Amino acid sequence: MTQIKQILAELVRIDSVSSRSNAEIIAYLERRCEAMNIVMRRFPYKDDHGVEKYNMIALAGTDFSDDTAVELALVGHTDTVPYDPNWTDATNLTERDGRLYGRGSCDTKGFIAAALTALENTDLAQLKKPLALVFTADEEIGLRGAKRLADAKPLRVRYSIVGEPTSLKPIRAGKGYSLAEVIVKGREAHSAYPSLGASAVFRAARLINQLESIAVQLQEDQHPAFDPPYTTLNIGLIHGGSAKNVLAGECRFTLEWRPIPTQSSGYMLNLFRTAIQEETQKDPDFQCEVDANRQDTGFETSPDSPLIKMLEQLTGIESGTVAFGTEAAQMMTLGSESVVIGPGDIREAHRTGEFVPVHELERCAEVLRQSIQQLCSL
Ligand SMILES: [Zn+2]
Repeated sequence: MTQIKQILAELVRIDSVSSRSNAEIIAYLERRCEAMNIVMRRFPYKDDHGVEKYNMIALAGTDFSDDTAVELALVGHTDTVPYDPNWTDATNLTERDGRLYGRGSCDTKGFIAAALTALENTDLAQLKKPLALVFTADEEIGLRGAKRLADAKPLRVRYSIVGEPTSLKPIRAGKGYSLAEVIVKGREAHSAYPSLGASAVFRAARLINQLESIAVQLQEDQHPAFDPPYTTLNIGLIHGGSAKNVLAGECRFTLEWRPIPTQSSGYMLNLFRTAIQEETQKDPDFQCEVDANRQDTGFETSPDSPLIKMLEQLTGIESGTVAFGTEAAQMMTLGSESVVIGPGDIREAHRTGEFVPVHELERCAEVLRQSIQQLCSL
């Protein structure tokens, strides 16, 4: 088995579903880094369930200090989504028809295997500018590890290459991700006597009607690099009422929106708050709570950035954008210009039978090796 397939098989063998501690996979990555004589540091935290999680940074060509700075960071998340217990080979990397099957093979252990291979095939003693490997936890459950690193700012980064399955297309911009829980209150009453109460479902319906108009209004602010080229919103879940013959006392729904990077998450939220005010003016008894608990910003790197130009040239693929969230936004807060790239197809990720094509995996290692050469050795 080739070096990169061997590494990927070992990574896939370690079950690192987000609900578990990622201590084992971090220990594996540390052993590989130790063999390359590079310094590393763990950044531990406890997740919401008290499970010990680690972000880990390894440095080549520099050491940790009060002002650690690197030219290039290769960033990969160590966690995976859960897998169906009937997929008996989920943690046993299996090769068939030029594809490597296993949980995480595509998202994102393939990229991690490529990054390690790239470093292991580089003479790190010859680097003129420092290089970092950044491994995060809890990406799949809200980019939590990367957000902690962005808050702690343990290093400054000039350029970062963030691993996600993009079929090696360099992704230079991504939409943000925002979420709010909305609770509309009513007053329960017998449905034969509606005037004795107020239906939370009717109230929520009026508000949702307004949100549909807001969705249309959002189309006016366009960012042509995206498909669709504007902020989208969705009400994915709704629940209200307790019985068919009772006026609903409460109605809850989730409001999700994906802002284009040139628009703040608060822009849509302000439109929504204005809509709530309008409802309150029409109905002084109108009550609504909004818990906007997630506001992940998008990211954008100029198409003229040397990082984007370099990756377009190395892959022969024109850069593009994605409508989903990645850790690139957190890396931007560390000062870097970011690009998202990796082997495998996002449409294959998160599925039973997830796979990465062998040729893309090997190509990715070579692209990363050459990126290190161009950015850190010249
Ligand atoms: Zn991923």
